[in-house]
Amino acid sequence: MQALHLLYKELSTPKKVIITMHQKPDGDAMGSTLGLYHFLIQFGHEVTVISPTNWANFLSWMPGVDKVLDYDKNPEKADQLIGAADWLFCLDFNTLSRTKKMEDVLGAALGKRILIDHHQQPQEEKFAFGVSDTSKSSTCEMVFDFIMASGFADKINNNIAQCLYAGVMTDTGSFRFPSTGASVHRMVAHLKDGGLQHSLVHEALFDNSTENRLRFIGNVLVNRMEVFYEYNTALIAIPQADLIKFDIKTGDTEGLVNYPLGIEGIKLAAIIIDRGEERKCSFRSKGDFDVNTFARTYFNGGGHFNAAGGATNNSLENAVADFKKAMKKNKDKLSTYTF
Ligand code: 5GP
Ligand code: MN
Repeated sequence: MQALHLLYKELSTPKKVIITMHQKPDGDAMGSTLGLYHFLIQFGHEVTVISPTNWANFLSWMPGVDKVLDYDKNPEKADQLIGAADWLFCLDFNTLSRTKKMEDVLGAALGKRILIDHHQQPQEEKFAFGVSDTSKSSTCEMVFDFIMASGFADKINNNIAQCLYAGVMTDTGSFRFPSTGASVHRMVAHLKDGGLQHSLVHEALFDNSTENRLRFIGNVLVNRMEVFYEYNTALIAIPQADLIKFDIKTGDTEGLVNYPLGIEGIKLAAIIIDRGEERKCSFRSKGDFDVNTFARTYFNGGGHFNAAGGATNNSLENAVADFKKAMKKNKDKLSTYTF
């Protein structure tokens, strides 16, 4: 994988460009791809953003989201665009399998695959150019760095600012996670100097819940959460029937895994959701407990040190039993709590 700055000399030569992200995109995936989109179209490139799947309603305000192609809805058109692309930007994921059904067509593409990502253990051999930096708060911060170093910082407009701010804010848990370096605050200061109205972005992201979703969260906290004080661990397990009962849509469960971390002393929080086709897991930790390794070892997944995910084909009941076994195996690491 060659350095990203080698692309700058070709930036002003119009190309066919695809920008894609991981399945079920979050704020950082959608924000970084659209932020880059609004930058690249200013050079006359023909740019299409493709999401492997649908996305959460709370992202639907983002400028340009109406043009994003949902692979699941139109795979033929997406395959054609991927096949014809000169550049294929792959943002906010480390392995092609994170694009689910797009994995094969992306892997076979003749154009140059370009990685911009902050997850651990990327498949570097799959990319012609790119940057992988696990110390970065978000892919949005990395797209900001890419634009700033290109010599075209003046092209950062309000669309770019809103998209990049949304991603950096959500991926840092509103600037609270340890990944929030001084560079994050410098980036936000730069965007604010350019006129960004950050409170509008917060409102668009967070104040658009349905009544059903709030009642669902109430039900989850009362009936679906177990706390294991001996292990400083809490687990939420959600049966599919709950998702149906409360009419839960993609993205409505985003952030739920963080709630148990609000309990004093909790070091590991986990959520397992029965999505029908699979049981999807999310893990969050505080301090020195490595959930990337935990997710890789027990749940066929990965992610970051303090935020990771995975999936299993086992039933919800068995997945919960597997989790408890894994928790017990990690007792030594979990039972000490130090800041
Ligand atoms: P979330 O829990 O928000 O879905 O994901 C947290 C982090 O873990 C994200 O950075 C995401 O990329 C990673 N992650 C989530 N699910 C999986 C998975 O199934 N496999 C891998 N390798 N990483 C995942
Ligand atoms: Mn990210």
